[in-house]
Amino acid sequence: MLEHPFELAGWVTLIAVFVAAGFHLIDGARRRKLLAEQGVLESEFLKAKLGAARVEWDKAREREVGWKGFANFVVARKVEHGTSGICSFYLKPKDSRLKLADFKPGQHLVFELHLPGKQQPLTRRYSLSDRPGLDYYRVSVKRCLPPRDAPDAPPGVGSSYFHDQVEDEGGALGNLLLVGCPDGSFSLDPSASEPVVLIGGGIGLTPMLSMFNAIAEDNPTRETWLFYGVRDSEEDVIFDEGMFLPGVSDLLAAYPNLHLHICYSRPLDQDSSLLDSQPGRYNKGRVGVELFKSLLPSNNYRFYICGPEAMMNQVEDDLIAWGVPEEDVMSERFGPPKAKAAVGVAPATITFSRSEKSGIFTGEVGNLLDFAEAAGVPIPSDCRSGACGQCKVAIVSGKVSYPRRVNYKCPPGSCLTCSCIPEGDLELDC
Ligand SMILES: Cc1cc2nc3c(=O)[nH]c(=O)nc-3n(C[C@H](O)[C@H](O)[C@H](O)COP(=O)(O)OP(=O)(O)OC[C@H]3O[C@@H](n4cnc5c(N)ncnc54)[C@H](O)[C@@H]3O)c2cc1C
Repeated sequence: MLEHPFELAGWVTLIAVFVAAGFHLIDGARRRKLLAEQGVLESEFLKAKLGAARVEWDKAREREVGWKGFANFVVARKVEHGTSGICSFYLKPKDSRLKLADFKPGQHLVFELHLPGKQQPLTRRYSLSDRPGLDYYRVSVKRCLPPRDAPDAPPGVGSSYFHDQVEDEGGALGNLLLVGCPDGSFSLDPSASEPVVLIGGGIGLTPMLSMFNAIAEDNPTRETWLFYGVRDSEEDVIFDEGMFLPGVSDLLAAYPNLHLHICYSRPLDQDSSLLDSQPGRYNKGRVGVELFKSLLPSNNYRFYICGPEAMMNQVEDDLIAWGVPEEDVMSERFGPPKAKAAVGVAPATITFSRSEKSGIFTGEVGNLLDFAEAAGVPIPSDCRSGACGQCKVAIVSGKVSYPRRVNYKCPPGSCLTCSCIPEGDLELDC
């Protein structure tokens, strides 16, 4: 028997403390167990997430990095676009494990063509003419005919090879093509929001199709104006099989920020019904700044231009005169500028320091690459139109200027010899 009520209270308190301590210990152990289990789960979850991220990263890296040099591609489909002289080629890697490298709309592919009977391969560049993210690359090649002032000259070697000898898998030849990774700085980010004007003249439509299709697919509320200039409906390929992404007419109707204007500079008689029935869509005349002024609310756009040289020179000059900042005019030239004397250039002494040669540049030959070649100083070159950067040379002393806009951005202290002229005496490291 307990002798004092305080003694009873003491025991009760003690037991309560023990019980509470017991519960606390059990609860602590249970919490620790739960925490440990939670820790294991969390670390497994993190591991799984990390694994998935690594797989994605590897995939993205594979897509980004692509392959080194040239890879074998098969022509999965060849589409001839009516009387336009243009053929589209849908290309897939021969080795199905090879992932297509990502590209930015506007970029191009480099082809190494091994022509029958020719020792040296031929390098040619063709813009990707469809949007990124598909399971093929597409290029659209215009057959290059002899120039009007030399009608007896042979037609273009590379484009003739594509048209006459490259067949799709169903064809007799089922050609393989050696293709380099997508390349080029003439490109656009389709997910950006700045309003753009895309101007394609003739075959210069190809990079614009890639840009337009990418925007229409991923970002159709972005303000985008596509101007396409051709001579007539026979040259016009824009609504031809597969050129635009499927359902483009519905997209154009659904998204008022997407605009398309087609200009026929010399329409055929049969084109009048098109011009009359769709005056907003079809215009008679050339693509040019007067048309932009009549349609665009301001000049506050980024302009992308690709087309025949004369058209590009005119549009570039007129845009600058309209007050568009130089950095908002992006151009892609498909061929070397016509050899034209660089008028008004003061004679300058050009020294090729490595070759220990020199000469006087008077502007007779249009650019430093031609001048160097004429002086017996070969400079490696490829596109000769300011796109690839192959003919870049370091400047030892002096300055150069660029009569025409080029896309390839030379690092400071170097120059792109195919596209520049000297500004006074110049020493080059070649
Ligand atoms: C970045 C870039 C992207 C491009 N994208 C495309 C594209 O998407 N689609 C496209 O079709 N092209 C594109 N090109 C142009 C393409 O690369 C070729 O330049 C074009 O196909 C002509 O090459 P070719 O071998 O057929 O002609 P070439 O053999 O180089 O001949 C060019 C011209 O010279 C003429 N010629 C030949 N010999 C003589 C002679 N003795 N005297 C006078 N004239 C002569 C030919 O008749 C022809 O008109 C692009 C170019 C670049 C740089």
